[in-house]
Amino acid sequence: MKVGEQTINKQTSFKKQRDYRSLAWRKRTQLVGVFGCPIGHTASPLMHNAAFLHLNLNYLYLAFEIKPEYLESAVKSVIALNFKGVNVTIPYKTEVIKYLDEVTPEAELVGSVNTIVVEGKKLVGYTTDGRGFLTSLINDAYENPQGKKILILGAGGAARALTMTLAQEGIKELIIANRTEEKAEALVSKLKNLKKLSPYQKIKAISLKEETLSRAILETDILINATSVGMKEEDPLLIKQEWLHPDLLVCDLIYNPPQTSLLKLAQEQGAKTLNGLGMLLYQGALSFELWTGIKAPLEVMREALYDKNE
Ligand code: NAP
Repeated sequence: MKVGEQTINKQTSFKKQRDYRSLAWRKRTQLVGVFGCPIGHTASPLMHNAAFLHLNLNYLYLAFEIKPEYLESAVKSVIALNFKGVNVTIPYKTEVIKYLDEVTPEAELVGSVNTIVVEGKKLVGYTTDGRGFLTSLINDAYENPQGKKILILGAGGAARALTMTLAQEGIKELIIANRTEEKAEALVSKLKNLKKLSPYQKIKAISLKEETLSRAILETDILINATSVGMKEEDPLLIKQEWLHPDLLVCDLIYNPPQTSLLKLAQEQGAKTLNGLGMLLYQGALSFELWTGIKAPLEVMREALYDKNE
């Protein structure tokens, strides 16, 4: 190592020490975070911490990989450790409900919670996924769901949140295709009971079988992947390229990787595409506002997310 380099390294390490010291001495830091398993893919800490720093708020957002057997004790620790709240992600959005004191009517309807807020001594569950997706659809893809035929792959927490929101936005048709068909059927029954639904809106469940699915896609305006298939490189494809057409908008809720195999195929077929980054941003901004009571700095959060994905 050259002398000059040593000096530079020493200076960096002093600076780092100063930074760590100032962090360590910060008092009454408000904690927030995310519980999930796996959690390595999450970009939420980046986006929230950028927002806290920008607004000079003494908050810190951390990611926790929680094994299933520890979910209950982890949720209980949210109050014990004086957190303001946490986000909840795969696979716990539904399971977590039984450990909460209250859930909002929207989260109850959806059967999914992605944001827990500590209110006094109570843990209250909210869902911001549906509104997050809708905002991204309108702001990022310039698409209004009104009068559209929508096909959604999946019937898990995210699919439930999205379908509840979209069904109340005047869509023409909603088709739900899920690997476990009974889950899709149960979701359809729930959606049909929504007060805001008109008798002219069609909602049905179908299987992931080739013939049924390919025929349904032909008639579809917006295709949404709300399964976790596509997060890993080795994941199978649920859709064949030749089923896709240029009039489609293909959305994938996955944001890591930012371009899934499905979105790549869709682009090659001339279809418009939307990944999950916008949804992550808008659902995160709503969580931020629930915890802090302060308007989220959207552009700062967007920059942090898109920087990471460049
Ligand atoms: P979840 O509740 O665990 O649901 C997973 C869904 O994927 C279920 O419908 C499941 O079908 C299906 N699935 C899993 N493996 C499959 C396979 N091999 N073949 C076919 N279907 C399969 O998860 P979630 O919370 O709904 O999240 C779903 C995805 O959305 C995740 O990738 C998540 O990262 C993403 N997401 C993104 C955002 C965002 O802000 N961008 C927000 C929420 C979620 P079964 O019912 O048959 O098990």
